[in-house]
Amino acid sequence: MRIANLTDRAVLLPGSGELTGSDTVPAVDIASASDGRFGPDVASVYDAWDDFVAWARQASLPQGSSVPVSELGPPVPSPRQIFAIGLNYRDHAIEADLEIPTELVVFTKFASCLIGPVADVELVSDRVDWEVELVVVIGREGLKIDEANAWDHVAGLTVGQDLSERRVQFAVKPPQFSLGKSYPGFGPLGPAVVTPDEFADRDALAIGCSLDGETMQDGTTADFVFPVAALVSRLSQVVRLLPGDLIFTGTPAGVGSVRKPRRYLAAGETIVSRIEGIGELTTRMI
Ligand code: ZN
Repeated sequence: MRIANLTDRAVLLPGSGELTGSDTVPAVDIASASDGRFGPDVASVYDAWDDFVAWARQASLPQGSSVPVSELGPPVPSPRQIFAIGLNYRDHAIEADLEIPTELVVFTKFASCLIGPVADVELVSDRVDWEVELVVVIGREGLKIDEANAWDHVAGLTVGQDLSERRVQFAVKPPQFSLGKSYPGFGPLGPAVVTPDEFADRDALAIGCSLDGETMQDGTTADFVFPVAALVSRLSQVVRLLPGDLIFTGTPAGVGSVRKPRRYLAAGETIVSRIEGIGELTTRMI
């Protein structure tokens, strides 16, 4: 099942498969199809997640109207909490010359930075970097969740791009990750939230990004230091996870700031961020 956001209304995208920025997909308005039981706003669907899934699996849905992916907003537009994880791929920790963490490295992206799957983002400096990330969307609230049950608390997975302004990030010691990663538009998200049952192996997804067609990152979530279930369990030992919360799960090797020579985004360049089974974000820097 795929859930998306069309003009701040929750929609179902019938069928399955990856979505790119140039695709057009049928979209079914959830509030209309459920006679007002769910939606129309996106957050209320996650708040009623278990009931919603039970309804959606047996509902006879209308055909839906065709919508360009470029018109979709972020599939979770205003989460109550956003967690972001640092150094969660072995290959990225190694390229950054940092030790592989034994505890979670956690920061946030402030929610106002979220933007849809096809977007123009203002390049705020000459030190803006890319980080493609698998984003977990929480469906069922929980505190102190066991790792064995953790996937039951996950509504679905989507693609995120953790755009990062490195000058602000490293202006102070210790570095302040959250601020440099929260400029307007620095959180492209989408195109849809895909439920875990849609993936052949939800713990091993190809993930990567390209810059004007040139591959920059090319990894797999099988390389996670802390897989999704471990992240959900460990975060929930401290914080009560709420429906619609996002977890940006970290980025694989290939970010610009540790390349030799270093490379940052330039105005006019387009980043395409992709994850197997979900699709692509198309983000143009202006
Ligand atoms: Zn990141």
